[in-house]
Amino acid sequence: MPHDRLERVQAWGLNSASMAHVYRPSTVERLREVFELAHRTGRQVALRGAGRSYGDAFQNSEQIVLDLSRMNRVLDWDPEEGIIALEPGVTIERLWQYIIEDSWWPSVVPGTMSTTMGGCLGMNIHGKNAWKVGPFGNHVLDFDLMLPSGDTVRVDREGDPQLFRGAIGGFGMLGCITRVRLRTKRVHSGLLRVFPQRVRNFDEMVDSFEENADAMDYMVGWADCFPGRPRSIGRGEMHFAQYLEPGEDPFPAQTLRVENQQLPDTIMGLLPKAIVWKLAAPFVNNIGMRLINTAKYHAQLKPGAGKPYLQSHAAFAFLLDYVPNWHHAYKPGGLIQYQSFVPKEYAADVFAEQVRLSHRFGMYPYLAVTKKHLPDDYLITHAVDGYSMALDYPVTRSNRKRLWKLCHEMDEMVLAAGGRFYLAKDATMLPGTPRRYLPEENLRAFEALKQRCDPGGMLSSNLYRRLFASRGAPEGGRAGMKAASLQHVGRSA
Ligand SMILES: Cc1cc2nc3c(=O)[nH]c(=O)nc-3n(C[C@H](O)[C@H](O)[C@H](O)COP(=O)(O)OP(=O)(O)OC[C@H]3O[C@@H](n4cnc5c(N)ncnc54)[C@H](O)[C@@H]3O)c2cc1C
Repeated sequence: MPHDRLERVQAWGLNSASMAHVYRPSTVERLREVFELAHRTGRQVALRGAGRSYGDAFQNSEQIVLDLSRMNRVLDWDPEEGIIALEPGVTIERLWQYIIEDSWWPSVVPGTMSTTMGGCLGMNIHGKNAWKVGPFGNHVLDFDLMLPSGDTVRVDREGDPQLFRGAIGGFGMLGCITRVRLRTKRVHSGLLRVFPQRVRNFDEMVDSFEENADAMDYMVGWADCFPGRPRSIGRGEMHFAQYLEPGEDPFPAQTLRVENQQLPDTIMGLLPKAIVWKLAAPFVNNIGMRLINTAKYHAQLKPGAGKPYLQSHAAFAFLLDYVPNWHHAYKPGGLIQYQSFVPKEYAADVFAEQVRLSHRFGMYPYLAVTKKHLPDDYLITHAVDGYSMALDYPVTRSNRKRLWKLCHEMDEMVLAAGGRFYLAKDATMLPGTPRRYLPEENLRAFEALKQRCDPGGMLSSNLYRRLFASRGAPEGGRAGMKAASLQHVGRSA
């Protein structure tokens, strides 16, 4: 393998990195050549979109990483029906900018617009409307999947339901998506009506989600997780949002213009966004983040703070893009995001207990975000009829081991409550944990698809080897990924 292809591939959370041979094909033919090269050299291949997963989902130590970001053309667009065909490297940013002036918006977007179609499908991402419209896969009409053999199959829900439910959310282990056709959402204004609401603890947060679920189109919660009064665990703020009805916006052609959606170039009209993470870095510690969380909570107590307001789709959806490269403020150790999905009857208790346990460990989540979800029928699914909470923790050389231990203890709480986890965010799960939360029939079906699509086991990643290898699986755990199909996992350079 050529040495000049060797690159350091780093988790978005900056919590791990590894060396791999990186290829960035711009066409389907070039992509097929990389699969041929992998066959010839006996290498394994991991797929990468924009590299926005927090952990090791697109890393592949000493093997090949196939970066799809240059395959980024819009292939077809029907502005009457809102149906679009895209290559895998097209980002959410390019998608919304392409369609919004025709009065459409992507049906599902994550908290950052940098992710690609391949990554959104590979992880079956969810948005702040997950409980209402389901995950990204629910809006896919069909997709093309290139198998490691170089053959391409067109997949839709009716023709091959199992492969549809497996490849979407299949974290790049069944084939490479080379084209996707999506249904987008009609909008009648570039603005959303946003309703902020203060909540005093997790119980109130869950009640507030339930009360607003029918009337709202988007819902998201933020919680201050620093120690305070025992009854205030989970105090925070909710943001609900609704689309405007036809006729409500007197100037839709204006509000739908891309330039009127853009996030501001400066923060507070003064500081260039690009340098803000450097200014924020001195505050990324327990004292600074406690101050910021407290100030954010108390800002809601100011007169008029809870009033509804209008906000652009992009500003509401991509709050985390306001400060580019904010994750660099967590250098050198980076961060992890611990996101768990808990059935609704246990969610408030489990989330409060996770925060209490963090305090006992002397570790404080710097950011906590909650969402409401619905179960779905994808084979590798993170969704439950309940809630998720994503907790950001800083990683340092001295806290790493203890932080991982904290996560493993929180995993047990989630598993006991019948909850799940999300591979896009994971960096800490133990081998075999997915077998304890995924239904056995899903694992068997996924395994059968792996045999069918990738019998030689060419597609792999650090995450796949870490979590699905049979070694280290709990005794008596779910059968799932059988050892036979995992022989290739140990195949080395
Ligand atoms: C700031 C921030 C906010 C986020 N907010 C959310 C959120 O609100 N909701 C949410 O669900 N997620 C969220 N995420 C996670 C993110 O949406 C996912 O990790 C997503 O998969 C990243 O897309 P990507 O293009 O960067 O893919 P990568 O991270 O590069 O890859 C993700 C997975 O997709 C696979 N893959 C990539 N391309 C292909 C392809 N062509 N065919 C098949 N498989 C492929 C990869 O092998 C990998 O397993 C957030 C991430 C960040 C950094």
